[in-house]
Amino acid sequence: MQTYIQEEIPVLVDRFGRRHDYLRLSLTERCNLRCFYCMPEEGIPLRNKAHFMTGKEVLTMAETFTRLGVKKIRLTGGEPLVRKDAHQIIRNLGHLDAELAITTNAVLVDQYIDTFKEAGIRSVNVSLDSLQAERQAKISRRDYFERIIRNIFLLMDEGLKVKINMVVMKNINDDELIDFVELTKDNSLQVRFIEFMPFQGNRWNWANGIGLNDMMATFNNFYGRILKKQEQPNETARCYQVPGYKGSFGIISSVTQAFCSTCNRIRVTADGKMRNCLFADRETDLLTPLRTGEDITPLIVKTIQTKKATRAGLNTMADLNDPSRHEQNRSMVAIGG
Ligand code: SAM
Ligand code: SF4
Repeated sequence: MQTYIQEEIPVLVDRFGRRHDYLRLSLTERCNLRCFYCMPEEGIPLRNKAHFMTGKEVLTMAETFTRLGVKKIRLTGGEPLVRKDAHQIIRNLGHLDAELAITTNAVLVDQYIDTFKEAGIRSVNVSLDSLQAERQAKISRRDYFERIIRNIFLLMDEGLKVKINMVVMKNINDDELIDFVELTKDNSLQVRFIEFMPFQGNRWNWANGIGLNDMMATFNNFYGRILKKQEQPNETARCYQVPGYKGSFGIISSVTQAFCSTCNRIRVTADGKMRNCLFADRETDLLTPLRTGEDITPLIVKTIQTKKATRAGLNTMADLNDPSRHEQNRSMVAIGG
């Protein structure tokens, strides 16, 4: 007898054939740091708790997306670990049929090692923009350098995979590119250099950014030979390794060479808005209908279907350089990078 297996319905495939199976889920807009490229100097307006997803709603949201084909969930923020119920949320999400990961500034990581392990988290991305204590404090407007460094090594000692994210900015930290690569000599971690991106309130100007080509020129000049590594499918970083080094490094070139053609990312903000692109100027409210018991699947499908080919329509450098095209975009701390 012939049996028929119903094929998975590809609801999260957009008009360009991109399958979206990676959810970046923000737990909060709050943060214990104030990185100037991410958080406006004046902070962001505090809103009543009722605007934000409860722990239970976070779980329902994540469950809905996994039912629709999401295979990986990365928790982000703001700083996800400042949320009081973060332990419980992480443990609950650990039961879903999806790989769980987290992006954090690492300030509170030592309090979460057991929770990470219990939830099956194997990979942690940590933001660090300088290896100089004073400079890091200046960039993040808070002085937690020693703690961050200690927690990075704690994560590695505990067997977790670590990626360090550094936002590269001209005359701020671009003289540390080699120092960061040198971290990969004896440590099997990955350093990822991120091009400075424009968001509301971060006074973006590409004159203050450093692009992939300039970074590569610095690395090639210094090391002579650099190995190109095979990237994972949907990888946002171009990956390299210095011969003989334990770790590797990557460059995330969202500004000079966007990687939109293989984008598989969906974002949900802490207040339950779905965004089909980091640069999107439109969002879909999922939390209100979720609270009234509506099926949010049609809204999710529609949001995927309206995704644009490149950076939410910011196709060129001229588009990026036009403040009116991105000043309406939330600041990064309120999106969840
Ligand atoms: N607080 C956590 C952290 O710092 O890792 C998670 C949230 S943070 C918004 C996520 C990532 O976005 C960080 O790696 C941060 O460096 C990056 N980011 C924030 N603003 C950015 C910008 N303007 N350009 C490039 N990357 C940015
Ligand atoms: Fe906070 Fe992360 Fe933004 Fe820094 S990059 S202000 S740590 S959310």
